[in-house]
Amino acid sequence: MKVYNTLNRASEEVVPLEGNHVRMYTCGPTVYNIAHIGNFRTYVFEDILRRYLKYSGFGVTQVMNLTDVDDKTIRDANAAGVSLEEHTQQFKDMFFDDINVLNIEPAEHYPAATDHVPEMIELISKLFDRGLAYQSDDGSVYFSIAKFPGYGKLAKIDVSEMQAGARVSQDEYEKDNLADFALWKAWDEQDGEVGWDSPWGRGRPGWHIECSAMGMKYLGESFDIHTGGVDNMFPHHEDEIAQSEGATGKQFVKYWLHSAHLIVDGQKMSKSLGNFYTLRDLQEKGYTGREIRYVLLSAHYRQQLNFTFDALSASRAALSRVDEFTERLKALESPDNAGLPPWAGKARDDFEAALDNDLNVPEALAAIFDLVHEGNRRMDAGESDWSADAVVGLLSRFDEVLGVLATEKAEAGDDIVALADARETARQGKDWAEADRLRDQLHDMGWEVRDTPEGPKLKRL
Ligand code: AMP
Ligand code: ZN
Repeated sequence: MKVYNTLNRASEEVVPLEGNHVRMYTCGPTVYNIAHIGNFRTYVFEDILRRYLKYSGFGVTQVMNLTDVDDKTIRDANAAGVSLEEHTQQFKDMFFDDINVLNIEPAEHYPAATDHVPEMIELISKLFDRGLAYQSDDGSVYFSIAKFPGYGKLAKIDVSEMQAGARVSQDEYEKDNLADFALWKAWDEQDGEVGWDSPWGRGRPGWHIECSAMGMKYLGESFDIHTGGVDNMFPHHEDEIAQSEGATGKQFVKYWLHSAHLIVDGQKMSKSLGNFYTLRDLQEKGYTGREIRYVLLSAHYRQQLNFTFDALSASRAALSRVDEFTERLKALESPDNAGLPPWAGKARDDFEAALDNDLNVPEALAAIFDLVHEGNRRMDAGESDWSADAVVGLLSRFDEVLGVLATEKAEAGDDIVALADARETARQGKDWAEADRLRDQLHDMGWEVRDTPEGPKLKRL
């Protein structure tokens, strides 16, 4: 399996540092506000990466941090007049609800920055020991980028023109403001109750040191993969490399992967531009998590994805086409022991070749639609010398990676069946209002009832 490594600007074979096990760190949400579907584009890409590594036989340990203290979380907690903890907790809860709706596999660890301040202080102390950190007159601690020779290697920045000693105290800044960045920010009035004691006085960590400390705590001083959206490359990831390698003298991360943005009308979807949709906005318009996930994964992760409602409708149609094919296969009488036909074997090879090539999901989806087309054609022709079960099995295997195909016969639990029965009774009694109410209730629980000549049938949404 090859991935495009931003560090070397090259496509490279994935070879873990240790055995067959991949350790990966994925920058998680800043929990100052609800995540938008642009953020989820990045999380879905990381989910596909994780799932395909597992499909390919690697073990995976994934860390996704929760940034629950930084400039933005403090600013917005203050604006809301609540504690930092209270403000961020609601967005952490929503984040976990949303990844569940999008069928994103949970990471092994979700460390919160506020639980790891001692580790950050220790890391900053090491940077002092190595002469890479200094305290300025305002009490804050900065990283001296002129003293770290590799600075700029990820974002390919030339530091030679930089004004020596210039400093930037904000977490986010542009390349034009290249400067020594804050490791520890001295407490000031705006911080209110937020602050930790440190050898450099009361204060709070800078955003970048959070990810270095949590990454190394859970994955070791050197690990395999680090990902994020392309906006994270500079300064966030560049600064993570400087801090981590500056402290340990070892390579921090072997492969850096960055996903392109989800855009709306040519601009990055972002909270600051106000041009964003949350998952909830789309669910309220009647779209399911599955349909939204399909849109988010359908473009190659290094290509910008233009979000439109047409794309959501197209995803609904595409999923129905695969669903109908799967249902048709399941209903087909075919010999169990006939095995996978060659045309399905070709789809499997194409699917794997596409994903082996830097996770080319659009091509992998094309392989699935070729399979659907070919299978339907053969069923139309009445062919029955191949195993339909084996083809369903192949679709399930594909779905270990994609997480959007309804290949497993979802079994309705007793509560769902009881509601469907109650609806049928209401319908027989011509109590249409009650029947509709029960249909809506089932819909909210993720089931659709379809009335067929053989009676009502339940289908998982
Ligand atoms: P944040 O909560 O702002 O720290 O961002 C969390 C993740 O979402 C980071 O990996 C960002 O790079 C990513 N991200 C932010 N906006 C977008 C967007 N419009 N499209 C794709 N990824 C994004
Ligand atoms: Zn990060």
